[in-house]
Amino acid sequence: MAVQQNKVSKSRRNNRRAHDALTAANPDECPNCGELKRPHHVCAACGHYADREVVAMAEEVDLDDDAA
Ligand SMILES: [Zn+2]
Repeated sequence: MAVQQNKVSKSRRNNRRAHDALTAANPDECPNCGELKRPHHVCAACGHYADREVVAMAEEVDLDDDAA
């Protein structure tokens, strides 16, 4: 097992971790369906981007028919 040669002080450890904070997501409201979506991304709920549908959404699939 590797063993550190010198103790890392609280100050040095905390300085290293100063850049570790996560930034919060900044969701936008979809202009078509009102769902929250990532900015500059296609809406995951309705497939729209900039007031037009760019990804066709599949019809709801009934999984029970496939299981039989
Ligand atoms: Zn949408």
